[in-house]
Amino acid sequence: RVEKLKELKDLPAVTTDGRQSMLAANIGTPNDVEGALKNGAEGIGLFRTEFLYMNRNDFPTEEEQFEAYKYVAEKMNGKPVTIRTLDIGGDKKLPYLNMPEEMNPFLGYRAIRLCLDEKEMFKTQLRALLRASAYGNILIMYPMISSVVEVRKANEILNEVKGELDQKGIKYDKNIKVGIMVEIPSAAVTADLLAKEVDFFSIGTNDLCQYTLAVDRMNERIKDYYKPFNPAILRLIKNVIDASHKEGIFTAMCGEMAGDPLTTVILLGLGLDEFSMSASSIPNIKNIIRNVSYEKAKEFTEMVLNMSTPDEIEEASRKILYDII
Ligand code: PEP
Ligand code: MG
Repeated sequence: RVEKLKELKDLPAVTTDGRQSMLAANIGTPNDVEGALKNGAEGIGLFRTEFLYMNRNDFPTEEEQFEAYKYVAEKMNGKPVTIRTLDIGGDKKLPYLNMPEEMNPFLGYRAIRLCLDEKEMFKTQLRALLRASAYGNILIMYPMISSVVEVRKANEILNEVKGELDQKGIKYDKNIKVGIMVEIPSAAVTADLLAKEVDFFSIGTNDLCQYTLAVDRMNERIKDYYKPFNPAILRLIKNVIDASHKEGIFTAMCGEMAGDPLTTVILLGLGLDEFSMSASSIPNIKNIIRNVSYEKAKEFTEMVLNMSTPDEIEEASRKILYDII
């Protein structure tokens, strides 16, 4: 069975009736690229950049960041590499950055909120990203967007950096795509508005579940409430994908749900364009997609969207998965 999955490496993730999805990998350091390629990733759907900032006493330099981003872009050899700007805060703190104690860190000063405040730090990262974009196919992604307002503010800073690079004659990809994580319910609900401002969406189901269901994603005691199969989550995902397609942009998913075999048929049926996951999950998910038709997935999804409980939906998903593979 492992052998069979290995043979899948160079085959496309295409349904029996010809709908192709893109399967990408999530990575946390440049060293992870090797595993991504070995498992047949067609791109990097989420490159978390926190590693550059953590476990040290000062900000990473532009040069350090540039080298890391360029390395990944070059190794991926023209395949898309979606790099997420700094998502610090919440449980992740930086000793060299003044981050006050908060009552609710996950609802606090973090990610894009912090970057919009720490403008020089943000500009350094954006400059490194833009410079690296001359060496491959880089996409920029902002985390923890709650409304159009932060997108516009972040893009204003991005344009400022582009202008500075232009003045100095420094190369970068002038058509670089800019997208957002959809991981806050307000963003998922207003996806139609956001779709007009960005080039792509990537649904972060880890935080989307946490915030929509009001369930701390680390709290073992309430883990039974943390259900990606909750109808509320499925409706939000549907809303995001539909809104993106109406504007002609694509939707990826980079939360854990994208690599969960039980959810593959539903996500396919909802029209998800890209699944990004730990590299080791790719062969398994590809195997499922290659053994089901898009028509059947859509039919199944329509059916489960009418169900009222996470358990019913999970049970139905288990059944259909069993039928497929
Ligand atoms: C998410 O929230 O789903 C996500 C992919 O981001 P992270 O797990 O880094 O918060
Ligand atoms: Mg997140």
